[in-house]
Amino acid sequence: MRYPKLRELREAIKALIKGPYTSDYPNKPHIPFERFRGRPYFHEEDCVGCGACAQVCPAKAIEFEDLVHDGIAKRKFTFRWDVCIACGQCQANCLTEKGIVLSQEFDLASTEGRLDMKQEIEKEFIVCECCGEPVVPFDQYAWVAKKLGPLVFSSSSVMLFYLRALDLSAKQRISPAKVSESARADRIKILCPRCRREAVLKS
Ligand code: SF4
Ligand code: SF4
Repeated sequence: MRYPKLRELREAIKALIKGPYTSDYPNKPHIPFERFRGRPYFHEEDCVGCGACAQVCPAKAIEFEDLVHDGIAKRKFTFRWDVCIACGQCQANCLTEKGIVLSQEFDLASTEGRLDMKQEIEKEFIVCECCGEPVVPFDQYAWVAKKLGPLVFSSSSVMLFYLRALDLSAKQRISPAKVSESARADRIKILCPRCRREAVLKS
């Protein structure tokens, strides 16, 4: 019993000399400590659209949907900071490590409706050249191709994507009218997993 009382007395004297531990917010601006976890932000240029952040988010603050319209596919991400619990899992599991980054922003009170407290980004998709289904976000393929280096030639889909990005292979525009059954020649196309399996089995 004796030691805690002495300790409390020491803390009280320290507080009298140094001033209170608490900050005078909102009368004065509050500067959070270095590793404070505040509101996350998507950084569109560094995000490749893989969706890992949405899969690990325990609060379901990040959601995405894949949309196809007139042969153009997009993955649309919605991040809602009104339900985010600032756990940091999205940043910790981000494929590029900088696609979504927590800021030190803590004052998120707003007079806007909750549904307006969101950030949206879109990522263009590559579609299957046989069935027109979305395969993978364009930026994710580019990121993988860069990581693979010469190994890019081990996968016909990634290789074709890589060659087309360098303008070394004819680009193909997919429209729903072009949808067809996959055949042997389709093995050298950008395909979704289902069409790739079919093309391999038929050849
Ligand atoms: S910080 Fe946590 S709750 Fe917020 S978006 Fe990231 S994973 Fe979800
Ligand atoms: S790159 Fe990072 S921020 Fe973008 S979808 Fe993947 S995990 Fe999320």
